[in-house]
Amino acid sequence: MFRAAAIVVLLLAGAPALALAQQMAPPAAVPGKPAERPAAAGPVPAKELFGRVEGPAPLAARSIGFYSRGCLAGAEALAVNGPSWQGPSWQVMRLSRNRNFGHPDLVAFLERFSAQVPKVSSWQGILVGDMSQPRGGPMLTGHASHQIGLDADIWLTPSPGRELSREDREKLSASMMVRADRRDIDPANWRPDHWKVIRAAALDPRVERIFVNAAIKKALCREASGDRAFLAKVRPYWGHDYHMHVRLTCPAGNPECRPQEAPPTGEGCGSELDWWFTDEVLHPKPEKEPAKPKPPLTLADLPEACAAVLGAR
Ligand SMILES: [Zn+2]
Repeated sequence: MFRAAAIVVLLLAGAPALALAQQMAPPAAVPGKPAERPAAAGPVPAKELFGRVEGPAPLAARSIGFYSRGCLAGAEALAVNGPSWQGPSWQVMRLSRNRNFGHPDLVAFLERFSAQVPKVSSWQGILVGDMSQPRGGPMLTGHASHQIGLDADIWLTPSPGRELSREDREKLSASMMVRADRRDIDPANWRPDHWKVIRAAALDPRVERIFVNAAIKKALCREASGDRAFLAKVRPYWGHDYHMHVRLTCPAGNPECRPQEAPPTGEGCGSELDWWFTDEVLHPKPEKEPAKPKPPLTLADLPEACAAVLGAR
């Protein structure tokens, strides 16, 4: 149990912070022009560079590096609305963030999955949160991962049967799935449809893993009926109270994409979840001396090819 948790912590360290931001707060504006930096401030953080490019690199599509340390060439934008039958089958939220870019495989997954959702649940479609920036890379706000165009946040709120306005997409909040004491889901918002929708995503062969709050994983363990093998892919993680984070495997023919170690086998239910509900996790003691924040990634920390991705015209 500890091993599983520790691996996830290592791989995604830093990700829990600001997980709320994309559901709750209107996004920070991304100014077009780089902020001025005093020379003494050291190398420019890579997020300052990748966070300000407006369009994809006109190169062949490649995911380069690791989910939390890399970039994306030849990104495709997910259309802001999916095909409509009773309302769009998907809608991109928080358009001002300009994070609806991904490897074409991620866009294809979202098309496939959103078509599947009405077949397995009463949802008419999905609401899509952050994917990647136009050229991937680290972000100015939120997320340690989402850097190589293979991660997408999908709200645990169904798409309404109508097209949302741009303003709605900035202001609407996702529903909170976790109970106030954080030990289980909130029955006021959680429905059986949730496990059916999450299972449909996990059953997609290209889905490598899905992150949800531990309370949500606990509910899946309790409620999912039929073939439960999908549970292995659904991993508990901090945050993710309002959305699931879907991660795809490295695309075929992308040797620069660094795969993640496979999730542990087994459902990951029962005592394997206990640690997440200990005092240590639910009520952490304030640190006497707050840890120094890690220095931000610079371009030199990313795979070499990312400089060319950033500069490609
Ligand atoms: Zn995410």
